[in-house]
Amino acid sequence: MGGAAVDILMYHSISNDVGPTSITPQVFSNQMEMVAESGIQVISMDQFLVYSLNPNAHSDRAIVLTFDDGFQNFADTAFPILQRHKFRATVFLATDYVGQTDIWEQSNSSSKKILPWGVVRDLSRNGVVFGSHSVSHADLTLLKPNTLKVELKASKQEIECKIGKACKHFAFPYGRTNDEVNNMVSRYYTSSVGTRFDRTTVGSSVYNLPRLEMFYFNHLDRWRDYLGGRGAGYFAARQLLRKLRRRLTT
Ligand SMILES: [Zn+2]
Repeated sequence: MGGAAVDILMYHSISNDVGPTSITPQVFSNQMEMVAESGIQVISMDQFLVYSLNPNAHSDRAIVLTFDDGFQNFADTAFPILQRHKFRATVFLATDYVGQTDIWEQSNSSSKKILPWGVVRDLSRNGVVFGSHSVSHADLTLLKPNTLKVELKASKQEIECKIGKACKHFAFPYGRTNDEVNNMVSRYYTSSVGTRFDRTTVGSSVYNLPRLEMFYFNHLDRWRDYLGGRGAGYFAARQLLRKLRRRLTT
């Protein structure tokens, strides 16, 4: 019964900035340490897709690591920690902002630096997978079909041209999507991730995949409990997730 469940973790900034899109380096380091200790396998987005297409090929829990926006602190802070554990990660870039700052975030008093292409290329050579987060970090549900197409196609082409590798994965800015956006994304990408708070079930759709917003696992005890959900504990993890999701939506 069941089949494997894969948790796609969602990170943004690894820094001491305040706000729900930042996790401190210390907490991030501890979260990764706990993943390593749990023995749960960390897999790439590509491996996840292989599992999803062959639900019987895999029965264990697994974790996928994703980072939205491509902040400079991914290279400076997160990557060395990931390397220590030999964990692979996928980073989603909004191509207009590569080498700039996150100025789409108007409420930001302190803007954060985004990786320049040179560093993106180095990271790519060192095993980091780069996906698209659109061109302009727009809410894609508000765009006309032609503009939407450019956001999806031009960002993919630019990433592929800059790193010399296929760009197959997409993350919706703000998690915003609808049927039209999903359809268009599936023409250019082999998977897409959103911000719906849940775990994935292997064998289900690989578009608009749910993720775990890691800010809600800032409490390390909570993260340890969640990771501990093997066997009978699976249901405990499931319940914890449901409780958190309720807190998010109310
Ligand atoms: Zn974003």
